[in-house]
Amino acid sequence: MDSTPLCYTQLLGQEKAKRLLGRSLANNRLPHGFIFKGSEGVGKGLYARGLAAAINCKDVKRIGACGICSSCKKFRSMNHPDFMVIQPERGVIKIAQIRQLIKEITFPPYESKMRVVVIEDVHTMRREAANSLLKTLEEPPAGNLLILTAESSKEILATLTSRCQVVPFMPLSRQETMGILKQAGVAEESVQLLARLSDGSPGKALLLQETEMVNIWREVILCVSDPAVHPDRDVGTILRLAEKMAALKDDLGAMLDLFRLWIRDLLLAENELVMIFGTDVLLKSWSSEQLFAKLQAIDRAEQELARNCNKNLVCEVLLFKLQ
Ligand SMILES: [Zn+2]
Repeated sequence: MDSTPLCYTQLLGQEKAKRLLGRSLANNRLPHGFIFKGSEGVGKGLYARGLAAAINCKDVKRIGACGICSSCKKFRSMNHPDFMVIQPERGVIKIAQIRQLIKEITFPPYESKMRVVVIEDVHTMRREAANSLLKTLEEPPAGNLLILTAESSKEILATLTSRCQVVPFMPLSRQETMGILKQAGVAEESVQLLARLSDGSPGKALLLQETEMVNIWREVILCVSDPAVHPDRDVGTILRLAEKMAALKDDLGAMLDLFRLWIRDLLLAENELVMIFGTDVLLKSWSSEQLFAKLQAIDRAEQELARNCNKNLVCEVLLFKLQ
C-alpha cells in the first residue's frame, strides 16, 4: 500500500529544498514563482503537491499540511480545484496551454487562499510559449503561486529561471530511495535491486517496476552468463528474449543502461548485483577486453536504435554479443 506522506516536510530526502521552502513559508514570504530543478523522478512533483497542501491546510496553527483536513484530503487525491498541473503534450508545453492557463488564473481561487499552478518540464517549452508566460510569472494575479519544474541536465530558458526562486533537487541516497520504495508498497525482495538500478531516482525505480524491464534484464543476464548454470540456454531462448526486449519500444534505451550497469559492476569487480541476485552466475570470468567489447556492442545497439533500425534484429545481435 502506498503510504507516501502528503506534507513536503515529511517526504524523505531533499533537505536543502525543505529548508528553502520552509524558510519562505515561515516568514510568509512566498515568491511569485518557484522553479524546482533536478533530474527526473527525484520528487519535484510530490514536493510541489506537498507545498501546495501546506500553504492551504485548514489547520492554520501549523506550518505544514495536517494530512487529514478537507483541503489536505483533496490534495492527496489530486482533486483540489485550486491545484492545477500543466504537463507537456507530446513532449512539449505548448503556447495554447499557457494562454489557457493565463485566462483561468485571472479568476480568484475557488475555495482556498492560494491557487497553486505546477508547470512541469518547462525545458520542453519553445521560446514563444516561454515568452507568453513571462509577464504572468513576474506579476501573477493575486492568490496564485506558480511552481515550474525542470530537469537540471537540460538547458532551461534563462528568462524563466531569473524570475523565480530556484530550488535544487538532488539524486537521493540509496537508503532514502529504499525507504521511499518501501513507503510506496514495493515488495521487500525487489527494493534493494530497484534502488541499485535507479541512480538515486525513486521515480525511475517505480517505472522499472511497472514495466517488465527488470524481469527481462534478469532473464537476459542469467541466460548469457555461464551455460553450465543454465544448460537449457539455446538459440531459441535468445531469440525469444530479443523479441521481449524489442517489445519494450521506447523503454529500450533504459534497458541498455541496465546492461551497462551490469557490465560496469563486472569490470569493477564490485559484485554488488551478484549479492542482490543471491546467486553466483554473474561471476563468469570474462576478461576486461571481453567486457569492453560488450560495452561497445551496447553502444552500437543504441546508435542503431537511434537510426530506427529494426528493433528485433538489433536486440538479437546484441544478445549474441553479450554472451
Ligand atoms: Zn490539512
